[in-house]
Amino acid sequence: MSAKVWLVGAGPGDPELLTLKAVRALREADVVLIDDLVNEAVLEHCPGARIIPVGKRGGCRSTPQAFIHRLMLRYARHGKCVVRLKGGDPCIFGRGGEEAQWLRERGVDVELVNGITAGLAGATQCDIPLTLRGVARGVTLVTAHTQDDSSLNWQALAQSGTTLVIYMGVAKLSEIREQLLAGGMATDTPVAMIENASLPHQRECRSVLTAMEDDAHSFELKSPAILVIGAVAACEEIKRSQPRFTRQLLQEDAFQCRS
Ligand code: SAH
Repeated sequence: MSAKVWLVGAGPGDPELLTLKAVRALREADVVLIDDLVNEAVLEHCPGARIIPVGKRGGCRSTPQAFIHRLMLRYARHGKCVVRLKGGDPCIFGRGGEEAQWLRERGVDVELVNGITAGLAGATQCDIPLTLRGVARGVTLVTAHTQDDSSLNWQALAQSGTTLVIYMGVAKLSEIREQLLAGGMATDTPVAMIENASLPHQRECRSVLTAMEDDAHSFELKSPAILVIGAVAACEEIKRSQPRFTRQLLQEDAFQCRS
C-alpha cells in the first residue's frame, strides 16, 4: 500500500452508519488521526494502527490545524497509510477540502471518503424527512459558527422555503431566532433540536421559532446538536392533525408503486 492520506467521514456516531469504504480505509491504516465527535467504537476496524487523538478529547483544548497538517504530511512522507477520521462527512463543516488541498500541494496522494453528516442523520433518526413533497422542496445546511466575520444572508434563508439544518447553533440560539424572525420567518415555524444524533443517548426537543431558545434552555440542550427549522420539523404533527394530507400521500405512494 503506497503512502496516502485518507480523509474519512466516520458518520454521526452510530458505528453502523460507517461506510464500507471507511472500514476498508481503517483496515489499511498505519496511523489514524481521530477528531472530536468520532465514536471511538469505530476503531475496532483498525486494531493495529497507531491512534492519535487530535481533538479536544486529546487532552489539549484544541489541536492547531497547522500541527495536524504537518503530522499528516510527516507520516505520509514516511510511507505510512494515514487515515484522518472526522465526525460526519469530512467536507461538511469539516475542513476536508482545505486539508486535501494542502496535502496535494505537497505531492501527497489524498482520497476523500464520505460519511453521513450529522444534520441528515439527526433528522432521519427523528423521522423528519428534510424534503417532503408539497412541504419542503429543498434543504440548506448552515453553520452558525464563523471564524471570520462573514455573515449569513439570514433574510434569504428565512424566505428560502427550504428546510434549514443548522450546525454549531447551541450557543447561538438567540441570534438565530432573532435573525430569522427579522428576516420574515413565521413565528410558529416548527423547530426540532437534536442532540447526540444516532447515539444511544440521543435526545430531541420540538419547539417553534419564537420559543426555541426558552425550550432549549429548559431542556438543557447541549452540544453536539443540530437544529432543523421548517415545516417538516413538525412532520409527525402534520400527519396527525391533517389526516387528509396523510391519506393523500399514502394514496399517491400506492399509485407510484403500482405504476
Ligand atoms: N463534519 C461534521 C460536522 C462538524 S461541525 C458532520 O458532517 O456532521 C460540528 C457540529 O456538527 C456540532 O456542533 C453539531 O452541530 C454537529 N454534530 C456533529 N455530530 C453530531 C451529533 N451526533 N448529533 C448532533 N449534532 C452533531
